[in-house]
Amino acid sequence: MVAPSARPSVGIEGQPGSARPSVGIDLGGTRIKAGLVVDGQLAAERVVGVAARDPDAIVAQLASVIAELTSDPAIPVGLAAAGVIDARTSTVRESPNFPSWKDFSLGARLARASGHRVYLENDANAVILGEAIYGVARGASSVVGYTLGTGVGGGILLGGRLWRGERGMAGELGHVTVVPDGRPCNCGNRGCLERYAGQVGIAETLLALGPPLSRLTDPEPSDAARRLSELAAHGDPDAIAIFAEVGRFLGQAAAAVVLTLDVTTLVLAGGVAGAFDLIAPAMQAELERRTFRSMSDGVRILHGTLGAHAGIFGAAASTLAALPD
Ligand SMILES: [Zn+2]
Repeated sequence: MVAPSARPSVGIEGQPGSARPSVGIDLGGTRIKAGLVVDGQLAAERVVGVAARDPDAIVAQLASVIAELTSDPAIPVGLAAAGVIDARTSTVRESPNFPSWKDFSLGARLARASGHRVYLENDANAVILGEAIYGVARGASSVVGYTLGTGVGGGILLGGRLWRGERGMAGELGHVTVVPDGRPCNCGNRGCLERYAGQVGIAETLLALGPPLSRLTDPEPSDAARRLSELAAHGDPDAIAIFAEVGRFLGQAAAAVVLTLDVTTLVLAGGVAGAFDLIAPAMQAELERRTFRSMSDGVRILHGTLGAHAGIFGAAASTLAALPD
């Protein structure tokens, strides 16, 4: 049993330490995006392909990326990765991008290899933390956010602290059921939010509709949502309707969150959130339909502003959350 580390409060504008430099690394399945964040600004950036899949090679590659960004071992490193992450022990329990990794002590290994303190965080948690410290939700102490990427992730910040749950797995907001007995999901459930609101889910919606919209999934299904948003921007009613449906599913899921937690700041981040203007009104309307008026009143749905750098800023933010005031 590992005692949880005492992480001080985060997410408050002007938080002590928020100007301190840190390195943020977004470890994806194919790319490593890393940056030196100083005073809330990206001072330097490196983007490299993942050179090999085995743990030793990745640790060595990450250490060399860190060395390119800073030679100061006092600067902490935040590392964001997909999967089930135990941030308390900086361990990857399971990773969709690196299936052979099981209970891999990535944080400790990278700390030894690089000479820096390393803090490992789930990628969606990191993005929402980043939006709370550096991005659109600056100043809000309680934030619930959805990362609409290939799948749908989530992060929950309560009273200035990331809520990780009793076993470190909280925030799996993409696997909340929105369609009973709907599409099967890798998690074992059916009808999960991510099967409709993530890039893969939207591609499946298009395929089910048939031509012409299904052609947007060719040749790269993960790119279909972006192309659909271009169509919607040109006024295509079917494309607009699909994003409105995504918004209704998000509103349905978020209603349970608002009823449970009474949070008033919701953030949408990730590639699909590029269609924010089409998604958010339907999400807001659904939220109002499914909650007490007194609870939905004042709820803000915000579009994450960190964009392609959200992972880097989020990872950097996770070091601020770990540092003493
Ligand atoms: Zn699921």
